[in-house]
Amino acid sequence: MDGSRITQAPPVLILLGPPGAGKGTQARMLEERFGLVQLSTGDLLRAAVASGSEAGKAAKAVMEAGDLVGDDIVIAILRDRLAQPDCGNGVILDGFPRTTAQAEALDQMLSESGQQIDAAVLLEVDDVKMVVRIAGRFTCGGCGEGYHDTFKTPKVADTCDCCGARKMTRRADDNASTVMSRLDAYHEQTSPLVAYYTDKGALRRVDAMGRIEDIQKAIVTLTERVMP
Ligand code: AMP
Repeated sequence: MDGSRITQAPPVLILLGPPGAGKGTQARMLEERFGLVQLSTGDLLRAAVASGSEAGKAAKAVMEAGDLVGDDIVIAILRDRLAQPDCGNGVILDGFPRTTAQAEALDQMLSESGQQIDAAVLLEVDDVKMVVRIAGRFTCGGCGEGYHDTFKTPKVADTCDCCGARKMTRRADDNASTVMSRLDAYHEQTSPLVAYYTDKGALRRVDAMGRIEDIQKAIVTLTERVMP
């Protein structure tokens, strides 16, 4: 894979990296800029938990412990979402795949629709700093803008700079001990995907410890190469 596309199929990008690496932020940026759809299995699972569905009930305690939800549940949720018409413009997978079984299932799903992975972008970060980064983060419940207790506070306390809403939310699993479990899960079960996508010639590395604008620029450049 030399970065140039041989098909007109909708692009498929994967964002890989430990919790807190900025996958969600970068996926939302790509969604706005390129009209791709962000598919976050974390968001889909949180919605399933909130709806009280069977999948949500099975996932709730696992997510609160910082462990990975079973492959069968996550693959089924992703398969349903991928089949929706808006995904026809191309997708950015944020938080999926997280195991080799999920990566193989994804290859299978894509090949059924004549698609393939264009790039797996690895956001490289320093783990220890990730714990600080995640444990302080919160989000506007109105528009989804992300904030941080230390690195990015709203101009007016508890009020979103972007939409003015006063409903900041914190994820239940963004506390120091759960973050450590999530990092362990990443190293044990997800990091083998670096070799998996390297072998396929799809891995692209981005230094994700620097300024957000620089990280964004690097990711935009990689994405431009795979847009039809
Ligand atoms: P995230 O929002 O991506 O950080 O995901 C939050 C939590 O949802 C994770 O800690 C897991 O418990 C669960 N989760 C999200 N995506 C997956 C996945 N692909 N496989 C297994 N569990 C997942």
